[in-house]
Amino acid sequence: MFKITKGLRIAASGSLAAISFIVMKATGYGPVTIAVMLAATFIAGTPIFMKAAGALRYRIIGIDALVTIAVGGALVIGEYWEATAVTFLFMFGDWLEARTLERTRSSIRSLLDLAPATARVRRGGAELEIDPALVVAGDIVVIRPGERIPVDGTVLEGDAYVNQAAITGESLPVSRGPDGQAFSGTVIESGYLVVRADRVGDDTTFARILQLVEDAQDKKAKTQKFLEKFSRYYTPAVIAMSVLLYLFTRDLVSALTLLVIACPGALVISAPVSIVAGIGNGASHGVLVKGGDVMEKLGTARVIAFDKTGTLTEGRPAVVRIEAFGVTEEELLRIAATGEIYSEHPLARAIIREATGRLGEFTGTARNARMLPGRGIRFNIEEKAYLVGNRSLFAENSVPLAGIETLLRIEEEKGRTAVLVGDAERVLGILSIADVVREDAKALVVNLRKLGVRHLVMLTGDNERAAAAISAELGLDGYYAELLPADKVRVLEELQAAHGRIAMVGDGVNDAPALASADLGIAVGGAGSDVAMETADVVLMSAELGRLAYAMGLSRATVANMKQNIVFALLVAGLLLAGVLFKTVNLSFGMLVHEVSVLLVIINAVRLLGYGRKADREDRRRTLELQSRGTDGARLHRDRPDIQRLDA
Ligand code: ADP
Ligand code: MG
Repeated sequence: MFKITKGLRIAASGSLAAISFIVMKATGYGPVTIAVMLAATFIAGTPIFMKAAGALRYRIIGIDALVTIAVGGALVIGEYWEATAVTFLFMFGDWLEARTLERTRSSIRSLLDLAPATARVRRGGAELEIDPALVVAGDIVVIRPGERIPVDGTVLEGDAYVNQAAITGESLPVSRGPDGQAFSGTVIESGYLVVRADRVGDDTTFARILQLVEDAQDKKAKTQKFLEKFSRYYTPAVIAMSVLLYLFTRDLVSALTLLVIACPGALVISAPVSIVAGIGNGASHGVLVKGGDVMEKLGTARVIAFDKTGTLTEGRPAVVRIEAFGVTEEELLRIAATGEIYSEHPLARAIIREATGRLGEFTGTARNARMLPGRGIRFNIEEKAYLVGNRSLFAENSVPLAGIETLLRIEEEKGRTAVLVGDAERVLGILSIADVVREDAKALVVNLRKLGVRHLVMLTGDNERAAAAISAELGLDGYYAELLPADKVRVLEELQAAHGRIAMVGDGVNDAPALASADLGIAVGGAGSDVAMETADVVLMSAELGRLAYAMGLSRATVANMKQNIVFALLVAGLLLAGVLFKTVNLSFGMLVHEVSVLLVIINAVRLLGYGRKADREDRRRTLELQSRGTDGARLHRDRPDIQRLDA
C-alpha cells in the first residue's frame, strides 16, 4: 500500500516537474509555471515535511529537517524550480536507496534461502508429496538424487553424497549412510536417502542460520553507532553554520545550499551497508558472524587460543593401546564403558566405540555417575565405586599411581591421552587414546601468522606431555595444559592482559565458558552443536579449520570497505562544501551529487558479496578433479578427514 503511494508520488511529481521545466523554458516564470512547480514540490515534499515534523517531536533534527528548511527557504525567495528539483531528487533518491538496500538484503537471503518446494514422506505405507511445512518430527522422509533435504534428521537407509554448501559452505560433497546426520537445505548429489525427521521447520539448523543472519545484520558495528551519534550533532551544527554563512555573506541561496549538501546521507549508510554485505558473504560461505561489532573485531585479534580436543585435533579419538593389571582387557573396557555411557566427552565416545567393537552390546548399568569436568567420571557398578579419568582424579581419591608412572609418560610423550581406570584402591588399567591432529591445522597456523596474529596458543585439560607434543607439531607459541574449565577462563584473561584482543577457538562441547569469556568466541563445526551456535560470536559451520583465516580476511575486507565508504562520503561532502563557498554548486545540483554518492556507497558495499569467489572456484575445481578420479568413500574421507566430524 505504502509502496504504491510512494511510486505514484514519484511518477506524479516527476512528470509535473518535467512539465514545469518545459513551461518555464517556453514562457518563463509565469503564474502557470509557478503553480505547476508548487504542485510538484507539494506532492514530493509532503512525506519529507511530515517526517521532519515527526522527528522534531522527539527533538531530533535530521536530514528531512535540513531539506524542509532548504525547500521552504527556496520558496520564500522565489527559487521555485530549485524547490521542485530538490524535493523530487530527494524523494527519488530515497526510494532508489531503499530499493537497492532491499535488493542487497534479498540477494543475500536468496543465497541462503534454498528451502525445497516439496517433501516426500512415507505415511501409512504410501509415499506422499507434501508441503515441507507439513512434515512433522518423526516422519520418514525419502530424498532422491538432485533433491534438497527438507528436514534435519538421522539417516535410516541409503547411501549418498550430499552437498552441504548451504550449511557449511563446503562445496565438496560428504558421504552419508545409516546413522549419519542429514541437514535441511543440503542437496543429494548422487544416491538416495531415507531420513527420520528429527527437527523440522524453524527448528532446523538451516532455519536458525537464517534467523541468526537476519539478527546479526541489525546488530550495529561500533563505527556505525558512532556515525549515528555524530549525525545527531552534525545536523544542528550544519544549520548553525548556514545561519552564520548567511549572517556573514547575506547570501541566502548559498546558505540554503549548504543545508542540502551537508546532508550526511552517504556517511550514515556507509557503515551499515558494508556490514550487511560482509555478514551475507560470510553466511554463504559457512561463516556466521553474529553482528557488526563482531565483524569489526574479528580481523583485529592479536592472540588466538585454541582448544585442543575437537578443535586442533579431529575430536574422533580412538583407543590405540590397552594395559590391564590383574583383570582382562575386556573386563577393563566393560567397566570403563559402563560408566562412560553417561559422558558426552570425546574420550568417552572413543572408549564406548572400542568396547562395543570388542564386546558387542555389553550389559551392566552404572549408578551414581558423576561427571567431573576436566578430570573424568566417578560411578558405581553394583555398589562398587570406580574411577575413569586422569591423574588428578586419582590423586583426589588417594589412589596410588606408583609403578605405572613410566608407562603413562611413554604414552603421553607420543601425544596420546592415557585414561586411567581404577577402583577405590588401585589402578586396574590404562586405556591409551590417540586423536589425530587435523590436516588443515598446520596450514591455518601459517596463514594466521601471515595475517599478523602475533600469539597462537593451545589450551587443554589434557596432560602436559601430550599438549607439548601437539603444540610442537603445529608450531604454536605455547600451550597451557591440565586446565579445568574455570582455569581456561583465567588463562584467557591473563593472555588478554599481556597481548591484547583475544579470540578463543573451540568446538563448543566443553569449552562454552571459555568461548563466552574471550573477546571473541569462535566455534568450529557449529552445524552439529546447538551450544556452539548459541554461545559463540563467530560460528564456522563446517569443521574445516581453514575457514578461520577466511573469516578473518572477510572481516578485514569488510572493515576496509566500510572505511572506503566513509572516506568517500567525507570527500564528497568536502568538495560540495567548497563548491558552495565558491558558488559553483547550486541547490539541485548539490542534491543530485548527494544522491549519487549514496548509491555509489551502496554499490561499493555490494562488491563485498563477491569476496572469496576465487577461493570458491578453486574449491569447485578440486571437487571436480576428485570426482573425475572416481571418488569412493574411502578416498574422500582420506583427503578430507574433517568431513567426518559432522557425523559425530
Ligand atoms: P580438553 O581441554 O582437551 O577438551 P577436557 O577439559 O575435556 O579436555 O578434559 C581434560 C582431561 O580430563 C582429559 O584429557 C581426560 O584426561 C580427563 N577427562 C575428562 N572427561 C573424561 C571422561 N569422560 N573420561 C575420561 N577422562 C576424562
Ligand atoms: Mg574440548
